Amino acid sequence: MNFLPIDPDFQTKRKAISEHNGHKVWGATEANKLGIHGTNVAVDWDICVGDGVCIGVCPVSLYDWAQTPSGDKRSDPVRQADCIQCLACETQCPTQAIKITPPP
Ligand code: SF4
Repeated sequence: MNFLPIDPDFQTKRKAISEHNGHKVWGATEANKLGIHGTNVAVDWDICVGDGVCIGVCPVSLYDWAQTPSGDKRSDPVRQADCIQCLACETQCPTQAIKITPPP
C-alpha cells in the first residue's frame, strides 16, 4: 500500500475547525474527509487505518480509541499534553499518520 504521510506543516496550511476530546481538529483539505486530530501530537484521521500500534507503544498512554462518523476506529490523542516526545508512535505508525512536534 502507498500512503502519503501526514503533512508536517499542517498547522500553517490548515485551520483549526473544531475541538474533540480536548484537542483541536485541523480541517481536511478535501470535502468529506476527517482532518487531523491534535496539535503537538497530531493524528491524520484520513491516513490512520486504526492499526493501534501507537496506542500500544506510547509509554504515557495518551491515546484512546475513537470512532469516526461511519464507525471506523481511529487513534485519538486525548492526553497530548502528557507527550514526552519519545517518537515511538511516529516511527512505528505503519501509515505515517502521526506527527510529533516538540515544545518550543
Ligand atoms: S511521542 Fe512517545 S509519548 Fe508522545 S505520543 Fe508518541 S509514543 Fe506517546
